[in-house]
Amino acid sequence: MAATTFGLFAVLLIAGCVFHLFFYRTWRRNRELNEPFPASWRQLLEDRVPLYRALDTSRKRALERRVQLFLAEKSFYGCDGFEVDEGVRVTIAGHACLLILARPYSDYDEVRSILVYPDAYHATGTESDGYVVSETSEIRAGEASTHGQVVLAWTECEEAASNPDSPHNVILHEFAHQLDYLDGSADGAPPLSGEQARRWQSTMTDAYEHLLNTLEHHDQPWLDPYGATEPAEFFAVLTEAFFQTPASLKASQPAVFGALKDYYRLDPTSLRQQT
Ligand SMILES: [Zn+2]
Repeated sequence: MAATTFGLFAVLLIAGCVFHLFFYRTWRRNRELNEPFPASWRQLLEDRVPLYRALDTSRKRALERRVQLFLAEKSFYGCDGFEVDEGVRVTIAGHACLLILARPYSDYDEVRSILVYPDAYHATGTESDGYVVSETSEIRAGEASTHGQVVLAWTECEEAASNPDSPHNVILHEFAHQLDYLDGSADGAPPLSGEQARRWQSTMTDAYEHLLNTLEHHDQPWLDPYGATEPAEFFAVLTEAFFQTPASLKASQPAVFGALKDYYRLDPTSLRQQT
């Protein structure tokens, strides 16, 4: 009798583990998506995510589904006394989910928490040149960690939300880093394979060198010089330009624009023409 009970318990335990591993997340997401999208969130997207206003109805619904899952699964924390309200959460989720509008939602599975400071914040750390370890101190608008954490300064997010034609958008920037980290390295190349990976590598290497040369010769750069800091920043700054000023990026760097269009699976120039 005891052996039968134990056997039954073991079978139930294994079944529970299998369900949790393979089906629970899908089941939970489907349950979440069965809930109606709140009208107040839709209004916030209209008010605070300029590109949402430019989307056609089916794209709007696709963005809303991603926002719904994002807000159900990610934890938000206010720092330095900042209060994270519904407007803050929807503004950040709406911009972050633009990057995966035509990509799988699972691209953000590793993102766990978003920390929001009221303003640009002071960050300290250490760096080593092999002999000397020194303390660093700098003011930051945002940062992304490989442990699934994104930090943002709310004033910078508001700036992004109210200037749709500015090439800068800190939310897009930090979440692009999260996509870059998906293959385990911050190298400016999100996970790609085969011919797409080869094309990405050669296109981005040429473009990065071109940007470095332009800056070296003090010519007018086609991208914010911060993108020349390192390949990881190049991808993040390019992502900002791709969504914020797509026509200008397409005109100046068509091959780069094409590689980003293939990766993000959408063309922001045509998204904007639908308004
Ligand atoms: Zn960055």
